[in-house]
Amino acid sequence: MTTATTPFWLAGHEAHGEDTLEVTSPWDGRTVGTVGLPTAAQTEEAVAAAAAVAGEFAATPAHVRAAALDLVGRRLAERAEEFAGLITAESGKPLKWARVEVARCQSVFRWAADEARRFNGATGQRLDADPSGAGRLAITRRVPYGPVLGIAPFNFPLNLCAHKVAPALAAGAPIILKPAPATPLTALLLGELLAGTDLPAGAWSVLPVPNEAMPPLVQDPRLPIISFTGSVPVGWAIRDSVPRKRVTLELGGNGAAIVLADYSSDADLDWAAQRIATFSNYQGGQSCIAVQRVLADETVYDRLVPRVVAAVEALRLGDPADEATDVGPLISEDAARRVEGWVKEASEAGAKVLTGGVREGASYRPTVLEEVPGDAKVATEEVFGPVLLLSRVAGEEAAYAAANDSQFGLQAGVFTHDVQAAFRAHRALEVGGVIIGDVPSYRGDQMPYGGVKASGVGREGVAFAMEDYTYERVMVLTGL
Ligand code: NAD
Repeated sequence: MTTATTPFWLAGHEAHGEDTLEVTSPWDGRTVGTVGLPTAAQTEEAVAAAAAVAGEFAATPAHVRAAALDLVGRRLAERAEEFAGLITAESGKPLKWARVEVARCQSVFRWAADEARRFNGATGQRLDADPSGAGRLAITRRVPYGPVLGIAPFNFPLNLCAHKVAPALAAGAPIILKPAPATPLTALLLGELLAGTDLPAGAWSVLPVPNEAMPPLVQDPRLPIISFTGSVPVGWAIRDSVPRKRVTLELGGNGAAIVLADYSSDADLDWAAQRIATFSNYQGGQSCIAVQRVLADETVYDRLVPRVVAAVEALRLGDPADEATDVGPLISEDAARRVEGWVKEASEAGAKVLTGGVREGASYRPTVLEEVPGDAKVATEEVFGPVLLLSRVAGEEAAYAAANDSQFGLQAGVFTHDVQAAFRAHRALEVGGVIIGDVPSYRGDQMPYGGVKASGVGREGVAFAMEDYTYERVMVLTGL
């Protein structure tokens, strides 16, 4: 796409490093771009700049931060097709899904602007309900802990970066964003939009630091907050290595879609099958809240299965730049080989492959399995590929127990019309979010989002991330 080396953003300015990284398309292997990598000295410069500006930035008027965030959202809308094309080129995400990601990202910046206006934090409270507080008044303001280190994965190259950047800037915390090595170009293009604002230079950097150079950055005491989205082992290892820092982890899952007995009309089952097929395969299944497991009541199972298989077979696998493509390649051939190996392991142990099970290069055909042994990797791990497991369950309690029988706990979907069942599901499911009437794959940036168990700790959603990045500092006035 481009021949020149793309610079990175060091304290709001373009910079070139010594080494470079070539970014290739997972679809056809062509070079999409070449990215400059920061040296250790440049990374140090960015951290020092963030630390130096932190106090001044925290004191920036909310309307200034809000205006900058609004501007980024508007510029993103103007350049939406450019961003979508780049996401597709470097990640292999089908263009139609890349457009959805860009549209969602605009709303993240809009929300962040709104929250920046709302989040002024100072409240007054009389303390004289207790005799010791007679004549005292408490004023509380929220203060950023300091600069945020945001680490993002490859599967939403724009929006998962926005989930780090927008709340930090809204809260008045400088941010150093570290994009994934497979998809740095989109994050660097986002840097162009940030550079068009009048935010103080040190308030943001986009640094494609290689993984092996990350430990000193993770350990750096000038970055008290780490917001990490990515895989389970990397996330927890980071958290364990910095026990004194505030670390938010948005990690993996093996999302369950439960279909209860009342969801039984032809129209119900058509809708459920359509949603399940789409959201087990969007992004090639490379979404932390993709549907991996379907737990259908035994009374509807036999009518649901052929519908799901037909809907999966109707998905078009192919060139992600083609407007008609539903499912593109995985991020690499290695990723597709891993998925192929896990499906093979399950089928050798007795699982039935109802459709799919075929790899071609980095592409893996959408696959539906049933009768999967409980200890197969496709059942116990996060597949992060276009593979769906169907299971028959006897009643509601068995469905919730099966959904909870997982090391993960991110989100679950429950297809039911029964409001009482919805409340029972909400109570019983050990996850961060229960989506009633749909698959687990819904995420809105105005709601708390995150997991329990191995899936992570802390919450995103713009306002919730802003709370995580800040603390309450109280002032007590005496003698009033
Ligand atoms: P990954 O863990 O390999 O990488 C994530 C980020 O961490 C990348 O930027 C990577 O360069 C960086 N990284 C790797 N090693 C590091 C180290 N030692 N120190 C610091 N940073 C390091 O994950 P991935 O393969 O890019 O993404 C896929 C994973 O992300 C899946 O498990 C998926 O479920 C998860 N994910 C979770 C959410 C969520 O919100 N819960 C959203 C999207 C993706």
